[in-house]
Amino acid sequence: MVTGGSRGIGRAVCIRLAEMGYHILINYKGNETEAINTQNACIALGVEAELLRFDVGSSVEIEKVLGAWIESAAKEKIIEVLVNNAGIRLDTLMSFMSDTQWSQVLDTSLGGMFHVTRQVLNPMVMNRFGRIINMVSLSGLKGMAGQVNYSAAKAGMIGATKALAQEVARRNVTVNAIAPGFIQSDMTADLDEKDLSQMIPMKRFGKPEEVAALVGFLVSKEAAYITGQVISVNGGLYT
Ligand code: NAP
Repeated sequence: MVTGGSRGIGRAVCIRLAEMGYHILINYKGNETEAINTQNACIALGVEAELLRFDVGSSVEIEKVLGAWIESAAKEKIIEVLVNNAGIRLDTLMSFMSDTQWSQVLDTSLGGMFHVTRQVLNPMVMNRFGRIINMVSLSGLKGMAGQVNYSAAKAGMIGATKALAQEVARRNVTVNAIAPGFIQSDMTADLDEKDLSQMIPMKRFGKPEEVAALVGFLVSKEAAYITGQVISVNGGLYT
């Protein structure tokens, strides 16, 4: 299950997991056309792919859509891998930040991670196997001016990753975070890529597939002893 699987990093993750043979649940908020594009790309790889439309910022919608899916699928299907990827940016300096800009960013990344994970955790724990990956950011590690809301949301996810990892380690459920730097996607389309690339040692933005490759490793059996970690994918940008 990948939240925010319709576009960008989430889509690349869906495709990577489909290549590994996983059936995919693709969550998205509203962009149905792109969600269907991801779904078709997964199906073309020979796996099943279902769309689950809900706002990760709404515990009510999560309960209604994901909760209902889990209940109906209980006997035949189990979510083994959860990638909490859905996120938004609403950047502005703190002095100008509205309550809405603060709460929407926190509710989507941090709140979404909490409410979605709580739904899927018990079956994973009972199954004694699971992989949870939280998409955080360089911004949550070092803090970025103009992103007090986003940095707080991602730093909160990092703390939650470390705490939850300790709660469920005995049940073979690993919980890790990936901290991308600048990755080409709709989220960064408004940034000056040429200019910003100058401060990145690799002198370029990353590709969604380069983040998805790490997800592929972290969900694999080989990564069984890695938990509670935050791993950066940022072209060497100092954190
Ligand atoms: P993106 O291209 O803007 O795509 C965002 C995805 O999240 C879309 O699939 C969108 O669904 C979904 N989404 C947004 N709000 C949602 C909500 N409330 N409920 C459900 N789905 C929601 O973003 P991206 O660049 O791929 O980023 C993916 C993740 O990586 C985010 O958490 C982001 O913070 C993190 N990240 C990105 C970068 C970067 O440079 N791109 C760097 C560090 C971290 P719809 O298509 O339906 O709108």
